[in-house]
Amino acid sequence: MPALGFGVFQTAPEETVQAVETALRTGYRHVDTAAAYGNEREVGEAIRRSGLDRSEVFVETKVWISDYGYDATLHAFDKSAGKLGVDQIDLLILHQPLPSRFDLTIDAYRALETLLADGRVRAIGVSNFMPHHLDQLLRATSVVPAVNQVESHPYFSQPEVIAEDARHGILTQAWSPIGGITFYREGEGGSTLEDPTIAGIARAHGRTPAQVMLRWHLQQGRSAIPKSTRPERIAENFDVFDFELTGAELAAVDALDQGVRRGPEPAAITLETFGREIPEA
Ligand code: NDP
Repeated sequence: MPALGFGVFQTAPEETVQAVETALRTGYRHVDTAAAYGNEREVGEAIRRSGLDRSEVFVETKVWISDYGYDATLHAFDKSAGKLGVDQIDLLILHQPLPSRFDLTIDAYRALETLLADGRVRAIGVSNFMPHHLDQLLRATSVVPAVNQVESHPYFSQPEVIAEDARHGILTQAWSPIGGITFYREGEGGSTLEDPTIAGIARAHGRTPAQVMLRWHLQQGRSAIPKSTRPERIAENFDVFDFELTGAELAAVDALDQGVRRGPEPAAITLETFGREIPEA
């Protein structure tokens, strides 16, 4: 899996084909979508239009909680693969733990294990799993998730989750890697893009704050999946392979952690509050 991928959360379906085509032209070879984003069809369309061979693009998508359960999750694969227009998904992950129905979460993961054994997916994983969710999952299932995709940016980096993932051999993948959730949602604590420490490091390298945050993830071994619909930012976020942050700079960004989650509390995710039907392919 290419460590740097392209995110499409909140990218409207009518913008998605162009955004993903631009990303693929820029050099990205990994796209992160989700059944719940409502744009899998357009991601698939962009990959076909790019002219790239299917094997050159790593496609990651997520099963929404409404499709948890063994049979329901097997069918969720059919829905996602059908919309994407692919036979095989490179990485299929559970979008959220469902703490109030962890039995369904485990059944959903067992379906992922079956899809993996059958070769319908190349890897399986989870998202927004806290260490105690991982423990519960690992006790009940046999395949260690390849990836745990969690909120991680300088203001909420989740070092304990990253350490626990590493202990199990799970790759942490950062969502909102440049802190999008600190500036596109109302909230306290400020925007990572305007952080003076990050801005100072950016100036020292002749780079942008977004590029510094992406380097910080990559140099510490995390995957990152920044989102943009603007060609110049799509290019900027990919142009991060020819400079290096020092150990002191990495530590300075680590020290910005405020320990306050910006995304939903995993415990607050229930079928009643967040459940919604995912359409058929
Ligand atoms: P990001 O950290 O990627 O930030 C995206 C925001 O930053 C957008 O508002 C974008 O606007 C803006 N932006 C992008 N590049 C730049 C730049 N270089 N300079 C300034 N602004 C920029 O946040 P996301 O929350 O979108 O996270 C990335 C991806 O992670 C998602 O798209 C999705 O794939 C995944 N995700 C997963 C979640 C989960 O629960 N598993 C939850 C949230 C996200 P514009 O488009 O106008 O450029």
